[in-house]
Amino acid sequence: MLAAFIWGRRRPPQISGLASISMPNCTKPRRAHRRSRKSKCRQSCAAGVAILYCPEIMQTSRLAVFHSKDRPITYETVVVPPLREGEILVRNEYTTLCRSDLTTFSGKRIEKTPTILGHEIVGRIEELGPDAPTQDGRGARLRVGDRVTWAIYASDPCSHLARRGIPQKGEGLFKYGHEQIRPDSTLHGGLAEYCILRRHTPVIHVDQQVPLTVSALINCSVATVAGSLRLAGEIKDQNVVIAGAGMLGVVACAMSRNAGATRVIAVDIDDARLAAAREFGADEVVKLSPTQPLKEQLAARVPGEAVTVALDFSGVSGTMEALLGALGTGGILVLVGAVSPQRPLQINAEQVVRKLHTITGLHNYNLPDLVAAVEFIEHNHTRFPFARLVHDKFDLDSVNEAFNYALVSGAHRVGVRTCTKPGSE
Ligand SMILES: [Zn+2]
Repeated sequence: MLAAFIWGRRRPPQISGLASISMPNCTKPRRAHRRSRKSKCRQSCAAGVAILYCPEIMQTSRLAVFHSKDRPITYETVVVPPLREGEILVRNEYTTLCRSDLTTFSGKRIEKTPTILGHEIVGRIEELGPDAPTQDGRGARLRVGDRVTWAIYASDPCSHLARRGIPQKGEGLFKYGHEQIRPDSTLHGGLAEYCILRRHTPVIHVDQQVPLTVSALINCSVATVAGSLRLAGEIKDQNVVIAGAGMLGVVACAMSRNAGATRVIAVDIDDARLAAAREFGADEVVKLSPTQPLKEQLAARVPGEAVTVALDFSGVSGTMEALLGALGTGGILVLVGAVSPQRPLQINAEQVVRKLHTITGLHNYNLPDLVAAVEFIEHNHTRFPFARLVHDKFDLDSVNEAFNYALVSGAHRVGVRTCTKPGSE
């Protein structure tokens, strides 16, 4: 039996009181770890090697581990491994539960498990690994203690798709909050004390004046909406219709208003969400009706043929078809919400041709979108009431409660405070 004692990373003195350590997929017989039970050392197992370590001197991280929809999230504690080339250790401060986290938790979406959910994260740099990037995505120096956001992805920047501006689908793709926990890869989600940012992860400073509840939204909701506006092209002086007034929809209202849209029109089935859209810059709201087509409802608010940009965050087939039917000549429809299996859309190709329509899709975002998202929030976090959209009552000890509340409350976002140490607001 091969055994090793790891002395590599000494824990900082403020971390104490951690109880149990365990790792998934450990198949070593317990006698292999007998030595650890005689001392204060504990056992872990990685890559077929039994590892003995001492929790009194090693830095550890608590994780909220998701197994399946049929089991509550459990808690584990793991050793923070020595950083590899290009990596950055971040202490997670705040994570908001995104819609995709909820669909995984409720079993509508299947991820490889066990996993750590949470990818709308903000945190502070704890350590820069060997050859870690020295500058962020805006060229500012990265230092220990900086508050940062980072892309949901890491991928090879030289890959074909990355060079085409689609790094979120590039080779070697690694997605925070979506990866399986393995012996050599444990810290990659928001619902944990720490996250290790892999090589080639875009990282950007966030102004510390932005509340944690709002800065956490940047690296999924806001960056994705920034990407949808990039694809839509010119927003200034355009009539923009936004379907789905959830988190992404209201962010899209605010970003379209900020970009100088002539009219911003929000579409949803829920009155409360439409009211929120008005607070975020929507000039008009339309409640979808089974009896009156969307095209007719829009025609009563803007002149015919005047809708030139339509953004769909609803993911509902009928709504996407209605948006296309309401689109004026030369208009563009950007599909963002359709991330679940559904029936094919019925599209009148002749109308697409004669009206010179463009239909495009977006999944996640790239670095310029993330930069645009950070800058939008830094300039507008007090202009629009983002903080009011985040239910801020949970911490890392109450992750199951946070998910259950998010599923029944209809809140735009439910937040989890992952760190309560001094230095976090
Ligand atoms: Zn998300």
